[in-house]
Amino acid sequence: MICLILSLFSYFFQTGWTGENERTFVAVKPDGVQRRLVGEILRRFEKRGFKLVGLKLVKASEDLLREHYWDLRSKPFFRGLMSYMSSGPIVVMVWEGLDVVKTARKMLGETNPADSLPGTIRGDFCVEVGRNVIHGSDSVASAQKEISLWFGQDELHCWEDNSRGWIYD
Ligand code: ADP
Repeated sequence: MICLILSLFSYFFQTGWTGENERTFVAVKPDGVQRRLVGEILRRFEKRGFKLVGLKLVKASEDLLREHYWDLRSKPFFRGLMSYMSSGPIVVMVWEGLDVVKTARKMLGETNPADSLPGTIRGDFCVEVGRNVIHGSDSVASAQKEISLWFGQDELHCWEDNSRGWIYD
């Protein structure tokens, strides 16, 4: 019930998911799936203490990818990005928790793996910007947009987190 209220609230007011209820959109790109990195990436987010509220394997349509990367449409690498992202299935997920948008970006590393510190996902598992294995929303507003683009309301799950008291004071 609380989840439904929060969903409706976040639909009408863009600030709905805040605090411990903040959500972000993360996608393991085709290279990450091919290279069997899905489990490792899930493990990192779970161990950090974030809560998984949505997860699926999808073959993204060109329309969906174009909408997702609309802001980059005039970049010289846009066509390559479209073909890379549609080259195989991707695993999309929604994670919930305090400051999850900012923290997920830190866990991912920089856009260019060469600038990413060891210990980050891109710093540990890839070398080139055009094959950087993972996407994560860059702001709360983008997260809200991306989550509603990739997930239906019925695909996001509210569940009682029994370890909550060991993660938050
Ligand atoms: P991020 O994914 O870190 O938010 P951007 O939104 O700037 O970064 O770019 C989206 C994606 O476009 C990157 O993750 C990467 O896959 C691709 N990309 C960005 N810059 C380049 C580039 N110079 N050459 C090839 N691909 C790029």
